Amino acid sequence: MKSCGDRQPRAEILSIGTELLLGQILDTNSQYLTRALAGIGVDCLWHTTVGDNKSRIEDCLRIALERADVILTTGGLGPTADDLTRECLAEFFSVPLLFDQSVATAIAERFAQRQIAMPESNRKQALCPHGACLIPNSCGTAPGIIWKVETELLEQASISQAQGPRYLITFPGVPTEMIAMWQESAKEFLVDTFGRAAIWSCDLKHYGISESALAEMYAQLLGLSNPTVAPLAGGGECRLRVTAKAESIDEAKTIASPVIDQIRKKSGYLCYGCDDDTLEAVVGALLTNKSLTLAVAESCTGGLVSKRLTDIPGSSLYIKLNVVTYADLAKEKILGVSPDILVNCGTVSSDCAQAMAYGIAKLAGSDIGLSITGIAGPGGGSASKPVGLVYVALFAEHFQRVQELCLPPDLPRCEIRQRTANAALNMVRLCLLDDSGVATNG
Ligand code: AMP
Ligand code: MG
Repeated sequence: MKSCGDRQPRAEILSIGTELLLGQILDTNSQYLTRALAGIGVDCLWHTTVGDNKSRIEDCLRIALERADVILTTGGLGPTADDLTRECLAEFFSVPLLFDQSVATAIAERFAQRQIAMPESNRKQALCPHGACLIPNSCGTAPGIIWKVETELLEQASISQAQGPRYLITFPGVPTEMIAMWQESAKEFLVDTFGRAAIWSCDLKHYGISESALAEMYAQLLGLSNPTVAPLAGGGECRLRVTAKAESIDEAKTIASPVIDQIRKKSGYLCYGCDDDTLEAVVGALLTNKSLTLAVAESCTGGLVSKRLTDIPGSSLYIKLNVVTYADLAKEKILGVSPDILVNCGTVSSDCAQAMAYGIAKLAGSDIGLSITGIAGPGGGSASKPVGLVYVALFAEHFQRVQELCLPPDLPRCEIRQRTANAALNMVRLCLLDDSGVATNG
């Protein structure tokens, strides 16, 4: 990849549109363009969002031009009075907007195809700042702009020239038009300008450790520059993302792999997989490899664990029985939980969970019985048993576990269920990885 001065090119995306700031639409264009830039090895270091306001757009342009080599804007290329991107660029660099008759004809033809006369306001879409190039829009009327801004213009606009020319590319806001323009013109332009590099990343998924503890554990790696290592959290689990940059994907993988190996070794059982791996798929693979079977009895998760387990193709090989025993009567009649436990310890108790796990394993004749009972909320909690209190139990001949979870009571019901399902699946995983436990058959 060609460099800019003494370093790699840096990009900024400037999303223009008041509707973005009002929260009416999500900025999916920035997400797409960031990934697209990564795909050709250009680092995107800033996302900025600004409303349809001339002076604020120009302020953002100045900031972007000072720090980035490539500035991609989306939005504001339409025909209406609030579409200001073209005018802002021309004004910023004090150049005239030139009318391009061939572009105006192409826009008029698009209208003619739909048997509509071109509104006068669309003529402004054929205006191009002097020195820039219009790029065609195969899906709509608004052409984009590619502009290599040379140092003289930068100097005139009081922008530092030290890092060399800047590359300005404008896209329409409509996502399909923006994507087509990226694929048909902008990508090739950037590859021709900077060459191509590859960015490859791998998410190492962890369960049972917080993001901050993970960050402390890998403090030294977080300072690396190639590959970079970054912790990310969400949904009750966290990931370490290892990202490498090189001339090719294979080379990037080679750069990342020693760090990935190091993390996998140090994290041990805390790391359950990478990228698209799920706890249910990992559990399924372990059960298959060890020729063991599982049965599940669920109360507060209402079948979610069973759903996730049976999402995995081929799970009928190792799943023997799934039951949702939500009512006390079902726990008693189907799983054989004693009335004594239900009355004296309660449905949401360690004793009940253990009796359920034992009951389902015996009923199914499976190697492992897994059970869940708890309070998913938002109602039903009490001072001694608040919302979010959950018990997960596992029974196997040589391995028994019960775990109390105290999930935040303000989590939505669906989130409490998902996190409980994660904990339950992870318990099966740990059981299967435990050398001293059930992990052998016969
Ligand atoms: P504009 O080009 O500014 O006239 O935007 C046209 C339409 O594109 C808007 O009404 C939005 O629906 C959509 N849009 C604009 N900017 C974005 C963005 N950053 N992400 C997703 N959609 C957008
Ligand atoms: Mg707009």
